[in-house]
Amino acid sequence: MPSETASTVYPFFARNGYLSNWHPLYEHRPDQLRMARAVESAIRERRHLLVEAGTGTGKTLAYLIPALVSGKRVVISTGTKNLQEQLFYKDLPLLQEHWSRPLRVCYMKGRNNYLCKSKLHGAAEMAILDGLQEVREFEQIAQWETHTLTGDRAEVHGLAEDSRLWPKLDARSDRCTGQRCTHYENCFITNMHRVAHESDVIIVNHHLLFADLAVKDTDFGAIIPEYSVLVLDEAHDVEDVAGQYFGLSVSNLQVQDLTRDVRLLLRSLKRKEPQLENAVNFLDDASATFYQVFSGTEGRVGAQHLPALKAQAETPYGDLLLALSLAGSAIQTRAEGVADFAPLFRRARLLVETLQTWMENPSQEQVHWVERRGRMISLQSCPVDVSDLLREKLFGAVETVILTSATLAVADSFQFITSRLGVESPSTLRVDGHFDYNSQAILFTPAQLPDPRSPEYAPEAIRLLEQILQITQGRAFVLFTSHQQMRLFYNQMHELLPFPTLLQGTAPKHHLLNQFKETPNAVLFATAAFWQGVDVPGEQLSCVVIDKLPFSVPSDPVVSARIQRITAAGGDPFREYQVPQAAIALKQGFGRLIRSGSDRGVLAILDRRIRSMAYGQTFFDSLPPYRRTSSLGDLAAFFGAGPSGFPSTESPLS
Ligand code: SF4
Repeated sequence: MPSETASTVYPFFARNGYLSNWHPLYEHRPDQLRMARAVESAIRERRHLLVEAGTGTGKTLAYLIPALVSGKRVVISTGTKNLQEQLFYKDLPLLQEHWSRPLRVCYMKGRNNYLCKSKLHGAAEMAILDGLQEVREFEQIAQWETHTLTGDRAEVHGLAEDSRLWPKLDARSDRCTGQRCTHYENCFITNMHRVAHESDVIIVNHHLLFADLAVKDTDFGAIIPEYSVLVLDEAHDVEDVAGQYFGLSVSNLQVQDLTRDVRLLLRSLKRKEPQLENAVNFLDDASATFYQVFSGTEGRVGAQHLPALKAQAETPYGDLLLALSLAGSAIQTRAEGVADFAPLFRRARLLVETLQTWMENPSQEQVHWVERRGRMISLQSCPVDVSDLLREKLFGAVETVILTSATLAVADSFQFITSRLGVESPSTLRVDGHFDYNSQAILFTPAQLPDPRSPEYAPEAIRLLEQILQITQGRAFVLFTSHQQMRLFYNQMHELLPFPTLLQGTAPKHHLLNQFKETPNAVLFATAAFWQGVDVPGEQLSCVVIDKLPFSVPSDPVVSARIQRITAAGGDPFREYQVPQAAIALKQGFGRLIRSGSDRGVLAILDRRIRSMAYGQTFFDSLPPYRRTSSLGDLAAFFGAGPSGFPSTESPLS
């Protein structure tokens, strides 16, 4: 590494450097400079780098500036939309104002975020509008289409997130006719690809990135252009997202969508096709009978039940394959004359291939399960271990991959994440961030509670929680490791508490979050959905309580397969997998509290195992250096000092 001042990024981050001049609220942060120099070296030396950067480090500028200085094309992939928007609407425009050359930036989203012109213009014939609301939305979208440059639904003011019309008009690939489409040259997707090819910085999310990596070698090809630097921000959940895209999924809803789209197309063509209509009717029936066998209970059903289910499904499976192949050939013969039939044929063929692989040729390298969520019944699989795939397709193929997050290390070590992801000999760096955790937060770990697995636990924990919330005057997230526990606590507490209470599942997540922010002294009862990507700076959130150490459920098919794999290799799955994974999850959950230099509050974990079990130390060693106590008196004293007068000094560059 060159000396500090010789580094090309030093003048940006130095005291009184460029950033100080560009923004009046910019604060010099030594940790940010350390991170920027590490990123600069990794890019120059074509190495991979892992950086755990505590909240408040200012990590986005710490990777953006060296990436831009390198002149190489960089892809930045994030876990949340908030961070993508911060990069695109805040950090990059600030740099652009002062950069010596134009920065070409592209914000790529999944295809279902964009309008399909062909569907919009064909909508009148397709008779797809259902009800007045859809007619109104259609008129608004048609008006917007005449002037939008991107076709991105985020521009349509007031379009509901759960709009029923939008999915009928979006540009997802399974209904796209590609170059045979008359709108191809002006298509928003074609245009997005053009812009991406000319861009220096491309912003995507992890889902798009891994979907792209998974199809890179197939006929449909990649959509993200070649790049030599990849930044994976919020990299702590990469293993799970990657797993989804290197696996299989075939559901009853995919079949229903296919038959619905065939009927819609026939209607728009005003064609009577009895043979094809009979084929799709037969397909609907065969699919319903087949998936009925797998309809069991809500949630996931894993390996031990699959042989019996497959045996039971043998005849319906044969019928479903026959129905798919009959419908497929009927569609294919029409695809010669009408381009719109081509993607439908492609979908029928893909359904057959996926179904056959799942039912007949399950890979030993993948874990298989059945998942039912509401009306959806899905046959799924994912790799037990994604490390080999990522080593080949990502770390072996891209010059420099920077992985960063506030939660990557376990007790100062990156061993867990490097082995799970297959990154070999990366450079590593930990920077604590900009906050004084010792004075801003107090970690409460009670000594007296019963074991959380015992029946005595809930009543005692509820009593204690009530006392904690009295001290903090509500203003709390109470986060649970299961829905059942969340409902139990909520049902017993919401009438007892003198504070407004909110419950996950009673409204969409963003509504609940807004309600929480706007309701003084509110208490939100929630689960894993609120453990990350949630930001409530200020005293409105002054307490985060977690019921149990967040070990993943060992009966979950994916977790169970990973445990078995480690055991078979002679390892200790609890120490090597379950404890590190839970330590990272706990750090994530607690990370909700201190989001700015002026936040203060209580973190409480109502699980005595963190104190009584030997592995508890790994959790303590993985958390920032919070002040620790087991006394409610200390909490009261901490709040006696008063959370009032929270000054709002958060830098907009954090
Ligand atoms: S090319 Fe595909 S996505 Fe684009 S307008 Fe045509 S059908 Fe729609």
